Amino acid sequence: MANKLVTNVMIFDGTGKKPYLGEVLVQGNRIKTVAKGKDQIARDGAEVVDGGGATLLPGFINIHAHTTYLDTTTLASVGDVPPEEATLQAMHNARLVHDCGFTAVISAAASKPRLDVVIRNEINAGRIPGPRMKACTTQFVTTSGPWDARQMHMHHESFSTVMDGPVEVRRKTREMIREGVDMVKIALSGDNFSAQHSDEHSVTWAEDEIAACVEVAHSRNVKVCAHARSDESIRLCIKHGIEFIHHATYASEKTLDLLEKHKDRFWVAPALGAIYATLHEASDWGMDKEFALARHFDREIEVGCQTMMKMFKRGIKVLPYGDYGVAWNPHGTDHRDLEHFINLIGFTPEQTLMMATKWGGEAWASWGGGVEMGQVKAGFLADMVMVEGDPLADITLFQDRDNFLMIMKDGQYHKAPQARRAAGRKRVAAE
Ligand SMILES: [Zn+2]
Repeated sequence: MANKLVTNVMIFDGTGKKPYLGEVLVQGNRIKTVAKGKDQIARDGAEVVDGGGATLLPGFINIHAHTTYLDTTTLASVGDVPPEEATLQAMHNARLVHDCGFTAVISAAASKPRLDVVIRNEINAGRIPGPRMKACTTQFVTTSGPWDARQMHMHHESFSTVMDGPVEVRRKTREMIREGVDMVKIALSGDNFSAQHSDEHSVTWAEDEIAACVEVAHSRNVKVCAHARSDESIRLCIKHGIEFIHHATYASEKTLDLLEKHKDRFWVAPALGAIYATLHEASDWGMDKEFALARHFDREIEVGCQTMMKMFKRGIKVLPYGDYGVAWNPHGTDHRDLEHFINLIGFTPEQTLMMATKWGGEAWASWGGGVEMGQVKAGFLADMVMVEGDPLADITLFQDRDNFLMIMKDGQYHKAPQARRAAGRKRVAAE
């Protein structure tokens, strides 16, 4: 296979530094050379891609993905979709998020026990298009925890898996390791969305249950992520070494002190999009302002944004994306999160894009194996996107899939290089 040389591009390398004009040589599935300026790298028979001044970035990495959630009109109804339909729809979702420039996703719960595993395996085998994927279990919940959708008179498990006591937790965790997951998800705190019996300030797991899950997972190089909004639940993540802390809304100063001490071991994804959409855009799905306010979603956004800025200032890794995959916050609109990070929290576009690329790559690398991704850097995996325009001036441009002029994963095109739309128009006018 010929080397590929992408030239005449503004390179945002993932570190947050200002983009520069340069070129990148790809050999096999790795970035071989990155150079500043034009005509710096010998062509030597390489396939040359002239970017025409477009922007080249590392592929996007989502550390709180729900690729197998199916854009259903309620969260619980994803459980009603039969496995056959769910599998096909999940396959389409994988392609869709790849079309949006994501080259890697770390799942934070599947909608069926084996669904992430199956989709990941098909992508890895090259039979369906999609980003690199870490596969997760369903939401592991305890009786009366969030998404325990059962009723006394009816057996109905929805999209979560209910378990109680360390013995059962250990068995369920081992079972899913047998099935091939990379990640176990536990719903550690409550959530106002679906259950009145476990609100956002509660903790729904006992410590011996948490310990049992983490011990089994970590003994097999499987990571654990937690739904953790309450202060105590975040502290329990730190204590038990749960690497991926999702939401982390109500972390107190004491908890932030503790997290800061161990900041290299944890990643935080607030997943603001779903809460924002529920608060402002969900009335068509029966969730009006009153519904959202009764569940304190205004406070979630307000406190959550403050907490994320505090964390960032302490050097704790906060990353965008998460919880796309419901009708009012559907797959394919994930890049709205970049806008939320800038407009709601107050991060700069450079910081936000660094979080979405470099930090995502570091999270992925925590599984070991010497995988390096998330930067346009020699030796790193050739996962890159080329986009029309200057994303630092307009972060919304990622929301239009047509602005992606090239999507490359593992040195292969998912979207082959396209001419710049602006440049193309100019050419037509000149003729
Ligand atoms: Zn989630």
